[in-house]
Amino acid sequence: MADQQQYDYDVLVIGAGPGGYVAAIRAAQLGLKTACAESRETLGGTCLNVGCIPSKALLHASELFEEATGGHLAKFGVDIQGATLNLDQMHAEKAKAVKELTGGIEFLFKKNKVTWLKGRAAFQNDHSVQVGDQTVTARDIVIATGSSVTPLTGVEIDQKVVVDSTGALALPKVPEHLVVIGGGVIGLELGSVWRRLGAKVTVVEYVDQILPGFDGEVRREAGKLFKKQGMEFLLSTKVTGVTVDGDRATVSVEPAAGGEATTLDADAVLVAIGRKPNIDGLNLDAAGVKLTDRGQVAIDHDFATNVDGIWAIGDVAPGLMLAHKAEDEGIAVAENIAGQTGIVNHDIIPSVVYTTPEIAGVGLSEEAAKEKVGEIKVGKFPFAANSRAKTNRDTDGFVKVIADAKTDRVLGAWIISSLAGTMIAQVAQAMEFGATSEDIAYTCHAHPTHSEAIKEAAMGVTGKPIHV
Ligand SMILES: Cc1cc2nc3c(=O)[nH]c(=O)nc-3n(C[C@H](O)[C@H](O)[C@H](O)COP(=O)(O)OP(=O)(O)OC[C@H]3O[C@@H](n4cnc5c(N)ncnc54)[C@H](O)[C@@H]3O)c2cc1C
Repeated sequence: MADQQQYDYDVLVIGAGPGGYVAAIRAAQLGLKTACAESRETLGGTCLNVGCIPSKALLHASELFEEATGGHLAKFGVDIQGATLNLDQMHAEKAKAVKELTGGIEFLFKKNKVTWLKGRAAFQNDHSVQVGDQTVTARDIVIATGSSVTPLTGVEIDQKVVVDSTGALALPKVPEHLVVIGGGVIGLELGSVWRRLGAKVTVVEYVDQILPGFDGEVRREAGKLFKKQGMEFLLSTKVTGVTVDGDRATVSVEPAAGGEATTLDADAVLVAIGRKPNIDGLNLDAAGVKLTDRGQVAIDHDFATNVDGIWAIGDVAPGLMLAHKAEDEGIAVAENIAGQTGIVNHDIIPSVVYTTPEIAGVGLSEEAAKEKVGEIKVGKFPFAANSRAKTNRDTDGFVKVIADAKTDRVLGAWIISSLAGTMIAQVAQAMEFGATSEDIAYTCHAHPTHSEAIKEAAMGVTGKPIHV
């Protein structure tokens, strides 16, 4: 906490995304007079407005459409004749979910007496910030301004033919051919939505596998599954430019290592090569806040910047760009400001790709575990041998548990399954409690559930699964 002095607020949070709104609510709960500045019309940040929530709404809706039209329901004797797509209704239901959730944050702000300052914030000095046309002072200031789409040189986003994730969440019609630039989480999720609704989808990825940062075996298996679903991949390929003519685009590509250039004809192009921290216009220099060499706000273990009383969390700070990471940091930073000890264990942040099947991981990949720990043991269990998955005709994927060979402590787990996003929480909690693979293997799991595959994979670490 900075020195005692008269300020308008104890805490000013800049940005009302999952990091900022959670920090503001926790600060207020801890008895601090709190304001949150947000330049968007609604609260909730990228995640609620143009990220996690609308993408999951479309993923769910498009999955229902594919189940109805792709023969999945018919296989179970549920014969739906003549199912058609009403895309406007799909978008309307998505908008309803977004409105309810962003409105929910407004309600929580009122309930917790957090003042919402509407407008763009810029530092005037280390305790003073201009928000719209007013100036407010605060003893502690939390930078939670999030991130925005990384532009691709030579590719102009017009949100009509060439879109970023925000545009891809609102396409007014199903494209014939969608070219997705970037085989990361966002590209694969949004590519899946439009493929399920009828588009041909080609994913162009610079490196030789999709899903950078994930376990190698998981990346390979995920690639196979997406191909089986009809997605096309151009790996080790770079996009050198996109030209738009009317409602069509020509995407120029060539091998990443150099070689012969070719073109792809498309009526929609999604640029999804990553996200960059939002620092433009914040006037960080006026406060003296330092950045990392990657342009993020530099922080220490407690989320404190180099300037006393200024903190940073979420996508604008180093670490995984994920909503739950931002939220946990929001709680921790507020507790630190209040003089408590707020901690986030950045080694145990689950990552989920919400495709079908879902892909989830927590902790180290097999490659990273070998590099970091050396001797490891791996247990794997396929869903083809899990009774519930078999019953549901849902056998794609596996669970993989990675443990330290000497201590048996679980170092990481990876799951490809329709329920992977929900299942990974169990392993995250076990790892947080310092579990060994044996601890998981000897925990009774309900039958018949997909979660039994986690138990069996853990049993596999010591070589004793039952059902394979
Ligand atoms: C399409 C898509 C899907 C995603 N899906 C998931 C998912 O399923 N799960 C997941 O964990 N993550 C997902 N993410 C990532 C997730 O949205 C981010 O990690 C998360 O929103 C980061 O939270 P934050 O609070 O740091 O920033 P943000 O949510 O980006 O919020 C920052 C807020 O600050 C405001 N702001 C910025 N500058 C200023 C300023 N100067 N003054 C006032 N206000 C300002 C912005 O308007 C914004 O509202 C997704 C992202 C995208 C784009």
